Amino acid sequence: MPFRFEIEARDDKARAGRLFTPHGEVQTPVFMPVGTVATVKGVPQDTLEELGVQILLNNTYHLYLRPGVEMIRQLGGVQKFMSWDHPILTDSGGFQVFSLSSLRKVTEEGVTFRSHLDGSSHFFSPESATAAQIGLGADIIMAFDECTEHPAEYARTQASMEMTLRWAARSKKYFEEHRQEVPWFADPALAKRRLERGTRDGSTRSSEAGEHQALFGIVQGGMFPDLRRESARRTVELDFPGYAIGGLSVGEPRPMTYEMVNAAIRFLPEDKPRYLMGVGTPEEIVQYVAQGVDMMDCVLPTRAARHGLLFTSEGRITIKNARYAGDDSPLDPNCGCKVCARYSRAYLRHLYASNELLAQVLNTIHNLAYYVDTMRKVREEIRAGTFATRS
Ligand SMILES: [Zn+2]
Repeated sequence: MPFRFEIEARDDKARAGRLFTPHGEVQTPVFMPVGTVATVKGVPQDTLEELGVQILLNNTYHLYLRPGVEMIRQLGGVQKFMSWDHPILTDSGGFQVFSLSSLRKVTEEGVTFRSHLDGSSHFFSPESATAAQIGLGADIIMAFDECTEHPAEYARTQASMEMTLRWAARSKKYFEEHRQEVPWFADPALAKRRLERGTRDGSTRSSEAGEHQALFGIVQGGMFPDLRRESARRTVELDFPGYAIGGLSVGEPRPMTYEMVNAAIRFLPEDKPRYLMGVGTPEEIVQYVAQGVDMMDCVLPTRAARHGLLFTSEGRITIKNARYAGDDSPLDPNCGCKVCARYSRAYLRHLYASNELLAQVLNTIHNLAYYVDTMRKVREEIRAGTFATRS
């Protein structure tokens, strides 16, 4: 298997390690910025590289509707399409179908839904959602799941969880029969990179025919610890190279999120990556690392930035606030990003108040830098053995 996960350090339940994917390595724990339609809104790819972003999340639902899977496949896959020669993860489309589309109809076979763009009718099944993700060609792809609404009754949540398990098995079967169809399967550049890596670490993967993606399973089970446990146990029986915990951060109180993560994570294998979907604030992502989570994604840093909410080492700043109008200090004196190095709060406040495009760009760059730096420090602390005892 070209896809590999190695844990290099532990501090209590937290782990620091490395994910090896066809488009490069990722140091974990990692926060993945969201690039919904193959762009992190307002931020060019070279800036993402400067910030130290290692892996992006793209949304299958959006790219399937526009520009379409076949277009991206013909252009060599989503990494080539968006000129991001680094790892990408796509979600299964399940969450967007449930949150964005109208008139959806769920059956055992799959979900019929209407596009939020033009109202046209579409159908996602475990097979077609997996086919779409193979065509897009992200390095890590997700089994098609039903994100149970919140709140939901026990019986409804259990039935939904059971269907997600059946859909996971169908996604895996389809993936195993079609994974060589990924657009970059026999890409010579990737083969060369793989050979170099094989030489470096002494492994013999160079004898394989080509590179393919890694398909992760998703744990559901709503807000019921026993269903989370059951879902985790049985998803692991299906045997995936990594596991996600989905269906959280859907409006429940935060202590409940922690409880559900805890209920599921104890049943996920130690040696496989664990991905908590759709979280969280800078304080929360550190808490999830402490629970043993390796990967996270969230629209919060980028969306909040566009609304003028900035995360700093001294707390949150709402930049539109009049108190910053004459403030010539940097946004965050402890941040090394190029926004904090160059611009004042007064200027950022002026850009925001004037509704200038540059406000969104600069705010997003800073918030991403703050998240990336938070995770970099967490990794250093885990490796130094000082993370679990941090105040
Ligand atoms: Zn900054």
